[in-house]
Amino acid sequence: MNNETIKRLYDHAMCAVFPRRCLYCGVPIAPEHTVCDDCRTNLPCISAPICLLCGHQKTDCICKQRKSQFKAVCAPFYYENAIASAVHRYKFEGKDFLALHFARDMAETVRREYTEILFDCITFVPFTKKQLRKREWNPGEMLARALSEELDLPCFTLLEKLYETESQHTLSARERTGNVFGVFEACNLEKVQGKTILLVDDIKTTGATLSECAKMLKLGGAEAVYAVTFAVTRRKAQAKRLADEIG
Ligand SMILES: [Zn+2]
Ligand SMILES: [Zn+2]
Repeated sequence: MNNETIKRLYDHAMCAVFPRRCLYCGVPIAPEHTVCDDCRTNLPCISAPICLLCGHQKTDCICKQRKSQFKAVCAPFYYENAIASAVHRYKFEGKDFLALHFARDMAETVRREYTEILFDCITFVPFTKKQLRKREWNPGEMLARALSEELDLPCFTLLEKLYETESQHTLSARERTGNVFGVFEACNLEKVQGKTILLVDDIKTTGATLSECAKMLKLGGAEAVYAVTFAVTRRKAQAKRLADEIG
């Protein structure tokens, strides 16, 4: 048997014990694939042209050009279906290798949407020390580090989270903005001052967290802050009331 045959037999044996799974939805798939047929055709991609103020496709945008502290935000996917399940497996089932794949999708979006922007570095939405002790790792930081490899940019810790907040997903849009107010502080200021920074997080919902982080980086002297996340929660018509509420 040549090496190739041995490798294939080995792959088949491994797949019998640990079946290969679709990167996004997690269903078992043939060993030569990385994504299942359903995901290949039905992923909730955010296709250009997009609104860089809210990160939605232009056809879905209901942000009424509402400005945030970051200059722009983009993401490869809406937080729905297989992408929601992928994020869940990444954050809560220890599938941290998914960061590499997510970062590849994010890098593609950054190259497409921020073609003209020369970034100095990448940073991420931080955890408090207590959160880090509890969770052991920060999924946003791991994404930022993987993305820094993809884009060949340095990744620095430029923000600190000063105290615990209530989990954003338990709160209304208006409460979310108040919940993160004054929670972050810029650090390593020599790497912030005068710099154009790419801020990374896993999911954008209202954008309150990203906006607060961008504000602190700008107060720390950053020239401009752009954001990228793996997924954006789609604000449908019924969510319009909330958008207006925080208007
Ligand atoms: Zn799939
Ligand atoms: Zn918009």
